[in-house]
Amino acid sequence: MTFADLGLCPQILAALKEEGYEKPSPIQEQAIPPALAGRDVLGCAQTGTGKTCAFAAPILQRLNNKPASGHPIRALILTPTRELAIQIGESFEHYGRHLPLRCAVIFGGVGQAPQVEKLGKGVDILVATPGRLGDLYQQGFIDLKTLEIFVLDEADRMLDMGFIHDVKKILKWLPEKKQTLFFSATMPKEITELVNSLLHHPARVAV
Ligand code: AMP
Repeated sequence: MTFADLGLCPQILAALKEEGYEKPSPIQEQAIPPALAGRDVLGCAQTGTGKTCAFAAPILQRLNNKPASGHPIRALILTPTRELAIQIGESFEHYGRHLPLRCAVIFGGVGQAPQVEKLGKGVDILVATPGRLGDLYQQGFIDLKTLEIFVLDEADRMLDMGFIHDVKKILKWLPEKKQTLFFSATMPKEITELVNSLLHHPARVAV
């Protein structure tokens, strides 16, 4: 199995090759085709399995296939920690280096002015931790009406870290019609309930 077999476009294939990736990891093999087809995905996978590429590559390709004018926010990735947010943002920059899409990363614990300035210039893909996203949204700096794809990364850690209420609040701001990619290493009851309310006939992938 190669990345080309999964249906990825030449620009992304070139970027993955430049990253030194030779073949897809199991989560990538399973998640990329349904995600590219626009399906919801429920992924049981931990960090270190290659799950970032499993959601980032299809997001980049789907957005690039259907260009929008003015860089409205079209994909949102919610992740529990600043470190993960930064890593995911870097992955989007790397995998998308041959595509004209913009990515921004927002997280708490630092001044919001540079983040607000970047948002003001227009971003297609926003990677965020829940607290800072909530703050900036409630101040009117973020418009989520144009969202097409939503990723909830490390859902079980969101629960463990006490962010689940923030996450549920944010879910209410998202359009009903969207593609959702949901990742959690474990599936405790509260996460299963969230999955059942959020996902529509998901492709289930586990590694
Ligand atoms: P992740 O689980 O997304 O945090 O990825 C873990 C690490 O594996 C990162 O350093 C990635 O750059 C790397 N990686 C992801 N997919 C592949 C692949 N198909 N081949 C080689 N390395 C990969």
